[in-house]
Amino acid sequence: MSCAVEIDNLSKTFPTCRALDDVSLRIGHGEMVALLGASGSGKSTLLRHLPGFLAADGGEIRVFGRTVQSGGRIAADIRRVRRELGFVFQQFNLVNRLPVITNVLVGLLHRLPWWRRLTMRFSLAERQQAVEALAAVGIEQTAWQRAATLSGGQQQRAALARCLVQGARIVLADEPIASLDPESSRKVMALLADMNRRHGCTVLVSLHQVEFAIRYCPRTIALNRGRVVYDGPSSALTPSLLGELYGSGARELFEPGLFGEAPAANAPGLPRSLIAT
Ligand code: ADP
Ligand code: MG
Repeated sequence: MSCAVEIDNLSKTFPTCRALDDVSLRIGHGEMVALLGASGSGKSTLLRHLPGFLAADGGEIRVFGRTVQSGGRIAADIRRVRRELGFVFQQFNLVNRLPVITNVLVGLLHRLPWWRRLTMRFSLAERQQAVEALAAVGIEQTAWQRAATLSGGQQQRAALARCLVQGARIVLADEPIASLDPESSRKVMALLADMNRRHGCTVLVSLHQVEFAIRYCPRTIALNRGRVVYDGPSSALTPSLLGELYGSGARELFEPGLFGEAPAANAPGLPRSLIAT
């Protein structure tokens, strides 16, 4: 398997805790992987290491074979990797005072010469591309609104449109549905799955709800206190296995009442016991 992401023996200690404890994993091209764990388990810390926003204590990360960081040192050519990565974070996704379309066009900046980055002037063709991306995520009517006026779900979708315009080959989404209602959550997850299937993006999405991992992500990597406690098919994550992995903390990973309807066809082997009625 050729790898999009390779992580070897990554550890990160904060003054108060060990947030990542000897994490090693491989993610192949075109995979859609859930990063599951209760709050505080290290999901955000792991995701922030991938683009080199955080330097580890030790260990190594490579993205598309290119070293991002090694032994706590961020690679000098980190920008070459960052342009391949799209980000969808729970908050701080967009520049609130700028129109939605400008936020989406920011995805193009890495391709432009420095003087065009400074002026932020975009051609008609570029603006059309941004509107098309907004249409692809279903919010083209918001293009000229200030980003601050969007709902939480719309903001996540605008961030996905930015990933599309950027041509990101890997999308890192940090709890993109944590503060959304179930309907918006489903839309955002379906769009992530669409980017994965249609555009071949490798997707790594952190979630603290196992139902969404099972429904949308063939594979789950589960963290507990900074350690990988499970890495395998999401469909095998039964309540009893989660109980073994997390003890009483497993309850935090279930959101009752989210999945009243029948499981999607793309969720093979969904254990009935996981579907709230
Ligand atoms: P998750 O995203 O799974 O909720 P985090 O990665 O945010 O978990 O946090 C993992 C642990 O690291 C938590 O105990 C958290 O308090 C701690 N932590 C995260 N970021 C910092 C930081 N900048 N300074 C100190 N401790 C931090
Ligand atoms: Mg987090």
